[in-house]
Amino acid sequence: MNDFLRHVARFTGATQLHGHSLETVQINLGPRCTLECHHCHIGASPRREESMSPAVIDHLLTQLPQSRCRTVELTGGAPELHPGFRELVQKVRAMNLNLRVRTNLTIHLDPEMSTLAPFLRDHQVALTGSLPCYLEENVDRQRGDGTFQGAIEAIRRLNALGYGHDDRWPLELVYNPGGATLPPDQTRLEQTYRTQLRERFGIAFTRLATITNMPIGRFRADLRRRGEEQSYHTLLQRAFNPQTLEHLMCRHQISVRWDGQLFDCDFNLALGLPMNTPHPQVESLAATSTTRPIATGNHCLACTAGAGSSCSGALVA
Ligand code: SF4
Ligand code: SF4
Repeated sequence: MNDFLRHVARFTGATQLHGHSLETVQINLGPRCTLECHHCHIGASPRREESMSPAVIDHLLTQLPQSRCRTVELTGGAPELHPGFRELVQKVRAMNLNLRVRTNLTIHLDPEMSTLAPFLRDHQVALTGSLPCYLEENVDRQRGDGTFQGAIEAIRRLNALGYGHDDRWPLELVYNPGGATLPPDQTRLEQTYRTQLRERFGIAFTRLATITNMPIGRFRADLRRRGEEQSYHTLLQRAFNPQTLEHLMCRHQISVRWDGQLFDCDFNLALGLPMNTPHPQVESLAATSTTRPIATGNHCLACTAGAGSSCSGALVA
């Protein structure tokens, strides 16, 4: 039994975590990205070439209506780089499903992407963009030189289209700590972001999501380099909060990798930790049990620490 399950058992008596429902299908179109951030758990970069094939997309489009999920989320890498991105957006929206795209924001400044934001607006696609701080130096350290100013300019352009101002076009920003610490209180930090970004740049957003750094991928390599892997693990264990268990994203979603393999969440996808079902492939998406046993590991402690963490931010107040 891993340390995460030991904590689950101590507080609930259960020795296994099970799913609950299927609200969201998260589709990872591939790890190619225009950036190469230090904290990226997928290991995305401009050099990655894996990409979801048309055959996998066809299976997805068949499975989604049968799955009875309410929301589809497109992620990567930068999902906008996928050659079938716009067609997929149109087809998912035609199914009347909510659609959210995780964007690195700066991609909107690419001259070849000049029609992207209006296209997303026309299809009422919600956006979630990474902005790990309201201070330039901290963002550029994590994501690369110039990314802060690029993200600010992208938000300005999105605001001009209604994003962040109108309920029909939500623009969520994502914060994650710069190092081996837990995120601060989400509500208070959101207020600080709102004030800072409005007063210094005149820009707006819908809500802020705080995410705990997952000890996998590039962030784990950084922890190891600094000799902080064990102390971070101890920090996450000490902060275990059983109230988060009900809301863990793996209990309400499925992640589909570019090659069609299914995972309980994006973090397990990044680790290659397969789903505990006989045929975890896209062709079986709709038939996958919502109450399946979830594949877990010690990395799961990042989801249950403090106020909890998911792709949508804190899990409890
Ligand atoms: S923008 Fe996102 S996907 Fe791209 S490298 Fe950074 S964290 Fe990874
Ligand atoms: S890492 Fe994934 S499987 Fe583990 S608790 Fe978090 S969402 Fe669930």
